[in-house]
Amino acid sequence: MSFSALSLHPQLLSRLSALKFTQPTAIQAETIPVILAGKDVMAGAQTGTGKTAAFCLPILHQLLTLQDSQIAQINDNQANAQLTATSSANVSLVNTSQARKVKALVLTPTRELAQQVHHNLTQLMADTDIKAALLYGGVSTQAQMSELAAGVDIIVATPGRLLDLLRRRATSLSAVDYFVIDEADRMLDMGFRDEIIEVLKRLPKQRQTLLFSATLDDRIFSFSKRLLTQAKVIETHGRNQTAVTVTERVYNVDADKKCDLLCKLIAVEAWQQVLIFSRTKQDADALVKQMSQRGAKVAALHADLSQLVREQVLTDFKGGQLTALVATDVAARGIDISQLDYVVNMELPFKLEDYVHRIGRTGRTGQAGHAITLFSVDDEPLLIKLEAYLDKRLPQQWYPGFEPDLTQVAPVTRKTKKGSLKQQARQKALAQSKR
Ligand code: ADP
Ligand code: MG
Repeated sequence: MSFSALSLHPQLLSRLSALKFTQPTAIQAETIPVILAGKDVMAGAQTGTGKTAAFCLPILHQLLTLQDSQIAQINDNQANAQLTATSSANVSLVNTSQARKVKALVLTPTRELAQQVHHNLTQLMADTDIKAALLYGGVSTQAQMSELAAGVDIIVATPGRLLDLLRRRATSLSAVDYFVIDEADRMLDMGFRDEIIEVLKRLPKQRQTLLFSATLDDRIFSFSKRLLTQAKVIETHGRNQTAVTVTERVYNVDADKKCDLLCKLIAVEAWQQVLIFSRTKQDADALVKQMSQRGAKVAALHADLSQLVREQVLTDFKGGQLTALVATDVAARGIDISQLDYVVNMELPFKLEDYVHRIGRTGRTGQAGHAITLFSVDDEPLLIKLEAYLDKRLPQQWYPGFEPDLTQVAPVTRKTKKGSLKQQARQKALAQSKR
């Protein structure tokens, strides 16, 4: 299928070909026609499948089409009045700051994600006269307020800063036609429920609402009832499936040898770029220290760092000045780093969905990737749960020279616990698939 089959505005089609987006991804092909038909959508697809363009393209299409018809109207009126003005002058006539009202609002859970959505949007709408503002906290409100005062068509924002600016009456949402909640699962994880409801109160009842998420679980279904009207639910690749292009390896290694094994793998396999997941900020900092002492070019990415530092770290990582980034789940969520070949789990995450999100950072849009988990005996109960959740085995292997000390015992009595955990997880999965 090609993008032209989706009947998108010619300006978008030419941008897509300039960006070398030759064909829509599965989630784009399924959601774009439904959004263009004006329906509410609840879409679930794993990280890296192009969800951003799936909502940006139809919204941009509608805004461009609306602009075209307004210009045609002015041209008509002028022809009738026998005036001659150029059509480009009429574009600015349509878009005077008084005329520009916020027509689309995209909410994302973190600043990095807001930046990424704004970046994608800017790429897609280059050469158009559409304006998009990026609003997030941690920086001064002044510049954001003047940008809003100058008039924008689209707002990409984190909930806290948006509400702050709305309370200062820096903008109004009364003309919003499209409301997008991106990364809805993480929004709820991060406790943005009340903020979203607060934003909702300021939106027109008559609007189109689009919810995008890596996972669609019970919480999201129940929350969506407040937001969406007769929404079409679209899921690609099924639930809980890790990306097919990702090869998973699990090394059984003692906890105190993990850092050594990691450094060894980076050196022996000549990894260029690796994203390493750590459960806590403290663990992330400690690992960065250990790895730096071994000469690795590495930095941490977590919420305790200032916005400026986080941006610098990401730029350095993307630019190749850093080989390794040690991140927490919240900080790394949704970050788009293309060509990421390796993802490492220093421990298994407590939340099983996080495993899927983590390894979704590699093997993006069809490229091959490797997900390596350093597994120690303490994580045994989590591995059992994870295998049941993914409904597949993750065979463990030993790395020569780093064989685990088998005299250490698992924290649970395997026989009884293993069976019951598996059963619990399967029952949960079964209940989900029946819905
Ligand atoms: P998600 O939100 O699902 O995690 P993104 O929207 O961040 O995924 O997209 C992941 C990457 O894929 C981005 O770098 C984006 O530019 C790219 N991409 C999106 N759609 C296409 C497409 N149709 N063809 C090629 N690349 C695409
Ligand atoms: Mg996304």
